[in-house]
Amino acid sequence: MPETFDAIVVGAGPAGNSAALTLAREGLNVLQLERGEYPGSKNVQGAILYANALEQLIPDFRDEAPLERHIVEQRVWMLTEKSHVGTHYRSDDFNEERPNRYTIIRAQFDKWFSSQVKDAGALVICETTVTGLIRDSRGKVVGVTTDREGGEIFADVVVLADGVNALVSQKAGLRGELKPDQVALAVKETHYLPRDVIDQRFNIKGDEGVVIEAAGTITAGMLGTAFLYTNGESISVGVGCIVSDFAGSDISPYDLLERFKEHPSVRPLLADAELKEYAAHLIPEGGYKAVPQVAGDGWLVAGDAGQFVNSLHREGSNMAMTTGHLAALTIAELKREGRPMTAANLSTYRKRLEDSYVLKDLKKYRDLPTVLHKNKQFVTAYPELLSQAADTWFRVDGVDKRTKERSILRNFRRGRGLIGLVGDAYKMARAFR
Ligand SMILES: Cc1cc2nc3c(=O)[nH]c(=O)nc-3n(C[C@H](O)[C@H](O)[C@H](O)COP(=O)(O)OP(=O)(O)OC[C@H]3O[C@@H](n4cnc5c(N)ncnc54)[C@H](O)[C@@H]3O)c2cc1C
Repeated sequence: MPETFDAIVVGAGPAGNSAALTLAREGLNVLQLERGEYPGSKNVQGAILYANALEQLIPDFRDEAPLERHIVEQRVWMLTEKSHVGTHYRSDDFNEERPNRYTIIRAQFDKWFSSQVKDAGALVICETTVTGLIRDSRGKVVGVTTDREGGEIFADVVVLADGVNALVSQKAGLRGELKPDQVALAVKETHYLPRDVIDQRFNIKGDEGVVIEAAGTITAGMLGTAFLYTNGESISVGVGCIVSDFAGSDISPYDLLERFKEHPSVRPLLADAELKEYAAHLIPEGGYKAVPQVAGDGWLVAGDAGQFVNSLHREGSNMAMTTGHLAALTIAELKREGRPMTAANLSTYRKRLEDSYVLKDLKKYRDLPTVLHKNKQFVTAYPELLSQAADTWFRVDGVDKRTKERSILRNFRRGRGLIGLVGDAYKMARAFR
């Protein structure tokens, strides 16, 4: 007679770890399966960790978790080939006792997170790929098949936290294939530099860190963004664009990353650094409209597998942790009340998601992906127009300021036309409503 668990969690990223930790703490008999050699070995992220989501699970995580730097400064850049127009927000308030955002290295962080899951009592087995779902005669999911010999394992419920590709759900027909216009391909490198060099280049000290997010003509007309994050003794740098845009372009992700690294605003920050790691990964960026069915008979989906990513704010790992936690709370409540893990009973998970920031935020930006797809001028014409405006405004050349103002306005009108400008403002206002 094979062993039956209360719950099986597929994947040991932030979503799976959060779900398994919560389930184990609620007293359930939990099995977590991870295909990687260890949790984190397969995972790629920028990576910014948002403290709030983790604090809900492990309030004192700062005492032990492998954290690189806490963020004190956020830069947002709109790039052209030679310039950037940007904003910086830096505040000493971010040097608080319990900082809000950290840079992390996922391989180390996921390993630590997993140790918390094991300590809570879950059985974690790595190097095991879940190959499918087992259903009973009524179609309810009652377990998983794995690539291990005799690899059938049974459970009352399965949490699918297997990341963006979500092959298990796809194969089982629980969701369709990823659409190329709803997913970004991102590449990332880690460049090593001595700590004091990073401190000097970014004007930081101790554990302080800086985040740079960039968009603009650097992505060659494709929808996407680039980033640069300071770690303790390294800098993470990356770029990602929508897959359907790559398909229509002859520029590779690697070319884009080279362009970003060679940009005059970026090159000095990386000078003399030693490149040690390169990784590529998909990011689900379809937003609210791409979120699939989140629960059914005997299963729930959490994290990237459910497309829970707010690409505008670069929030994915926090949504993964929150959705994993909410999925586990849904299961634990049913278990406590002795109710079966049916689709109807598990549907309260969707309600929990709607009441949380996860679906509230994704819903707020539900039209943004479509607006950006259809209006590439936001990453082509506007960066150029902004750069030209800044150049005109800041250059002291004997031209009076009123003439400069007129010249800037004329340039915008010439670039987009009056109707185009009004239309663009309207589209953006709707996309951000
Ligand atoms: C370049 C890049 C930069 C990013 N930057 C940020 C950032 O700065 N901040 C942020 O919050 N988010 C960021 N994200 C998004 C973030 O990484 C994801 O949202 C987050 O990792 C999702 O967590 P998850 O647990 O759902 O999936 P994952 O982290 O992908 O974990 C899924 C796990 O499931 C395992 N698995 C998959 N299939 C199977 C199977 N069949 N059987 C067993 N195990 C399986 C995988 O090995 C993996 O360990 C970034 C993503 C990328 C690619």
